Order: sequence, then C-alpha cells, then structure tokens
Amino acid sequence: MTTVYQQKGLNYFNLVAESLKTFLDTDARDGGYFDIPAESYNPLRKQYNPVQIAKTITAPTGTHSDFGFGIIDVDIYARGLNFIFGLAHPLRRIAIVSLYRLSGTKIRERIAKEVVHEMGHLLGLSHCRKSSCVMYFSNTLEDTDKKEKSICGTCRSRIEA
Ligand SMILES: [Zn+2]
Ligand SMILES: [Zn+2]
Repeated sequence: MTTVYQQKGLNYFNLVAESLKTFLDTDARDGGYFDIPAESYNPLRKQYNPVQIAKTITAPTGTHSDFGFGIIDVDIYARGLNFIFGLAHPLRRIAIVSLYRLSGTKIRERIAKEVVHEMGHLLGLSHCRKSSCVMYFSNTLEDTDKKEKSICGTCRSRIEA
C-alpha cells in the first residue's frame, strides 16, 4: 500500500492513485496534506532540498510493500543537477514528485509518468535505456513527453522476478 501525502492546496490524489494502479498494479490511500518545511529552502540555489522535505513524510512502518509518496509544487534539486522532477529513496521506501517543472497542457500526463517512474524505483527498478520506457531518466520535459506511462517488458520482468 502506498500512502500519498500532498503539499497543502494540491489535489492530485486520484490521478496518482489511478496511475499507480493502472501501470504498476499498486494500491494507494490518501494520507492528507503537509506543509513544505522552511528549512528545506536553499537561499543560494533559490530551490528546495527534497531530502529535507522527505523527512516530513511519515516513514512507512508496515511491510516492505508499504511506501510513502509525496506530491509537491516547489522547485527541487540534487547535487550536480539544475533541477529534478522527483526522487526516490528505495531503502526508506519514500518518493517525491514535484509538479513545479511539469506545468503546461500535458501536466496530468507528465505527473502520471513521473509518479510511475519514482514508484518504479521504489519497486527496485533502475533507469532504463529505452527512451519510450517510463523508467528512462528525464532530463528535460521533452524526455518526459517522449516516454510512455508504462514500464517496458524488460523492466516488468525485473519487477516480477
Ligand atoms: Zn529516476
Ligand atoms: Zn524499461
């Protein structure tokens, strides 16, 4: 079971739940809302540190198939990258997706793809070389728009193995 926590004001639970169910056969429940912690803001980068944000998401206490998933709308970064769409901590069983860089008419489709991508990491998948596979690493919105919402056959066989 994946518990979905949203930054206050966002309303994407149904989209997230539907995407996880359709493409990864994973169930989700609504974990409610949270505030972005002030200490996650990095004034030098004018962006937010997703590791700090992840700390505010309740760590799943159940079995290895329990995950915590955060949906946020602030600009997040990782060392060496200008920005990231999301991140996953498979060991802590927590992932985050930010809508900040996904805006546009295709926003719902893009959210679905990035949500399935980060969930794929939680399920043990690495990045895939196929640009059509949802596990392909998106560096740009073009990458995201090019890929499908589903995992490729190779990735699927890795999950099922
Ligand atoms: Zn990734
Ligand atoms: Zn793949």
